[in-house]
Amino acid sequence: ILSVNKLSKRFTPDAPLVVRDVSFDVRDNEIFAVLGPSGCGKTTMLRCIAGFERASSGTVCMRDRMLEGPGVHVPPEERGVGLVFQDYALFPHLTVLENVVFGLKNVPKAERETQAREALKMVGLNGFENRTPHHLSGGQQQRVALARTLAPCPELILLDEPFSNLDALLREGTRQEVRGLLKERGMSAVLVTHDQEEALSFADRVAVMRGGQIEQVGTPEEVYYQPRTLFVAQFLGRTN
Ligand code: ATP
Repeated sequence: ILSVNKLSKRFTPDAPLVVRDVSFDVRDNEIFAVLGPSGCGKTTMLRCIAGFERASSGTVCMRDRMLEGPGVHVPPEERGVGLVFQDYALFPHLTVLENVVFGLKNVPKAERETQAREALKMVGLNGFENRTPHHLSGGQQQRVALARTLAPCPELILLDEPFSNLDALLREGTRQEVRGLLKERGMSAVLVTHDQEEALSFADRVAVMRGGQIEQVGTPEEVYYQPRTLFVAQFLGRTN
């Protein structure tokens, strides 16, 4: 569904590349994680795929459509992907339910509220429908953002540390719920995270990134049991 080819990004002409020659494909109904330490360029890469940043070189294609490439830059709202970014704020003047309904513009009016309520239930926020974001904790706001993105069932969603504000117990539960929904509805996802446990338990395949480059792509078992570099082994906590 998504094809990233030799994507590179530098912020100013004489600055070093933050993302360097990154290539990977995401298959239909696949959950793909990009795992790496803080500052390795994960967020910048995801922002290039989302269209918030222009790539310095390389291409991003979804199905047969080029979204980003030489002379091509499709704006984020026209890419047809769902986004959960840390700074992707909720509307403060709308209630939780209205925030989720807002994401359902293409659904018949009569069905919007039911779908929004279902999405909120999935992230454990039933009962919170009429609150405004201001009256929610950071973790609850994060879950509303997740519900808003998942409710319309886009083919592809991009997730930047979407579970980071949740406590351990809630994180595990929400992760499994979201994973189940993506699988059930045939959606695909790219998730970026620095949490190796999250990448290994949530994703079908994992790309390990270091210094703007991908060092290895494989199933969780492959990257864990057959790390190709010392860095991959160490980052996944395997030192022997
Ligand atoms: P984290 O998990 O901490 O968010 P990350 O792997 O997502 O880290 P990025 O946020 O992509 O890393 O940042 C990679 C590098 O690019 C960092 O050195 C950062 O300082 C730099 N960078 C990010 N955004 C900009 C910007 N707008 N202008 C200049 N440099 C930037």
